[in-house]
Amino acid sequence: ARLKEGLTKTRKSLSSGLNSIFSGFSHIDDDFYEELEEVMIMSDLGVRATDEILEKLKQQVKEQHIKEPADCRELLIRTIREQMDVGENAYDFEKERSVLLVVGVNGVGKTTSIGKLASQQKQLGRKVILAAADTFRAGAIEQLGEWAHRAGVDMIAQGEGSDPAAVVYDAVSAAKARHADILICDTAGRLHNKKNLMEELKKINRILDREYADAHKETLVVLDATTGQNAMAQAREFMAAADVDGIILTKMDGTAKGGIAVAIQAELGIPVKYIGIGEKIEDLQKFDADAYVEAIFN
Ligand code: GDP
Repeated sequence: ARLKEGLTKTRKSLSSGLNSIFSGFSHIDDDFYEELEEVMIMSDLGVRATDEILEKLKQQVKEQHIKEPADCRELLIRTIREQMDVGENAYDFEKERSVLLVVGVNGVGKTTSIGKLASQQKQLGRKVILAAADTFRAGAIEQLGEWAHRAGVDMIAQGEGSDPAAVVYDAVSAAKARHADILICDTAGRLHNKKNLMEELKKINRILDREYADAHKETLVVLDATTGQNAMAQAREFMAAADVDGIILTKMDGTAKGGIAVAIQAELGIPVKYIGIGEKIEDLQKFDADAYVEAIFN
């Protein structure tokens, strides 16, 4: 119910567009597909994902001798659903001793998402430590500290401007000493300075590989869904700087661009693992493709 409420804007924009096509056309022809394409692209499904989905749809319409546009609807929903597979091992970090590197440009909701994630992990009974390795943005350490306090977890920090890799080193020592189950590192997302970003992530990864080799390591990119195709561009830049294992897609509640989740998985081949649907600590959900498709179409 929370998800459905959160995705209201996306559902309205996508459903009303699709419904008018499905009821407005008397038969399936090129115009029908063209209008479908337009609505899908307007809902930020992206050109590539839209093309792939429509190709599959056309093939199935042919194979199954479908004549009525209305009968296409279920088929389209199923085809979109098939594009989105989070993968069986997507949440393995929840079961093992693990370390997450969380990256994202300022304002996307990185700190908030880390706070929400920390709270969830703690509620699962796991010992959580946060590393304040975004030492670049003013106020980032204090803000993370507030979330740590709210979630009831420990945070390891040094001063603003300190070496992020040194913070991670300290945090790994603390994680070992305190037998942490999960270490979540808040790192800076300096996309405007790609060389620094790459160097910083490399240095942090070197420390983790050396000092914390037995921990399951993942890099998660936080993207703001309201920025639509811009979010895709950001994801690509982070992918160039690091091995990205998953996406946290925030602010899905405030946007009609929720279709971006489809584009991300189809075009980047990276699973959306979590979506943010509000500002509160409980407003982060594991991405559930069935629930997502249900929420935006029904
Ligand atoms: P950061 O600069 O990336 O660390 O971003 P913050 O975590 O400070 O978040 C920026 C703003 O986005 C804050 O006002 C958050 O409350 C808000 N925010 C984060 N996630 C969500 C979300 O899923 N939905 C909504 N509506 N707001 C969010």
